[in-house]
Amino acid sequence: MAEIINGREVSGIIRDEVKEKVRLLKDRGITVTLAVVLVGNDPASRIYVRNKEKACEYCGIISRKIELGESTTQQELLSVIEGLNADKDVTGILVQLPVPAHIDADAVIRAIDPSKDVDGFHPQNVGALSIGLPGLKSCTPAGIIELLKRYEIPIAGRECVIVGRSNIVGKPMAMLMLRENATVTVAHSKTADLKEVCRRADILITATGRAKMFDRSYIKEGAAVIDCGMDRDADGKLCGDVDYEDVLPAVSAITPVPGGVGPMTVAMLMHNCVEAQMLR
Ligand code: NAP
Repeated sequence: MAEIINGREVSGIIRDEVKEKVRLLKDRGITVTLAVVLVGNDPASRIYVRNKEKACEYCGIISRKIELGESTTQQELLSVIEGLNADKDVTGILVQLPVPAHIDADAVIRAIDPSKDVDGFHPQNVGALSIGLPGLKSCTPAGIIELLKRYEIPIAGRECVIVGRSNIVGKPMAMLMLRENATVTVAHSKTADLKEVCRRADILITATGRAKMFDRSYIKEGAAVIDCGMDRDADGKLCGDVDYEDVLPAVSAITPVPGGVGPMTVAMLMHNCVEAQMLR
């Protein structure tokens, strides 16, 4: 019987842990503040920002929303970030992505003080992760490590295949799994014989954005399957990269979509806000 990994439950536990840490900091006169910068009118971004504000509220983290119009120039945005970098009351800074097309997202990420980069996207934090130094870690991959550990799924010495090599999921995931002593393969759209590669995995992590692409033929019997996908099926219903019903009989553990990896990302963002305060 496959174990269904309940990301909602684990993310709730992490939020409570963060709430307690924030309370202890408050007792010492220290407040934690997250500045969220939203540029433009993307409706999905508005929902994400609202969810982050709600999570802050729950954890006792002060959230400061900075809303900028669609026509904001890159220079104007960089000036706002500069101000937040210099503001001693601000613990963490997050610029909600995507930014409008006329703004260079990489330049924006590079402008954030790495010690306040609670998304873990700054090159300094990415570098720290790859050479094992302390730093802020990308939230979704860090959340996956929490799920694996809290469900006591062994990592060390096991074959882990990650499908996807984006800067926000696939690559940092590979670094974190290496840190946990897995034997790591990173596959992508140019990988030859992807099915065979996936069938080697004791732990298969999919981050492709391809709805229900991974059916049972990709799965080694007894593998743990972690599905990062937030995709839409042919009926427009939210689903993952994995064909959940099809693989269920073959796996030892699996994250559903929704309710698996998704809720972990905001919980780990809250965790990173406290972490940023500790790393100061
Ligand atoms: P991305 O930047 O589009 O990267 C997708 C990766 O998948 C690329 O490396 C691509 O390979 C690979 N890929 C695409 N099609 C493939 C195929 N047919 N076979 C093998 N590899 C393939 O996406 P992302 O930002 O990493 O996100 C991936 C998924 O995770 C999306 O569904 C996204 O919504 C979800 N996500 C969820 C959360 C969360 O909070 N739960 C957070 C972030 C992302 P190439 O590099 O060769 O193009």
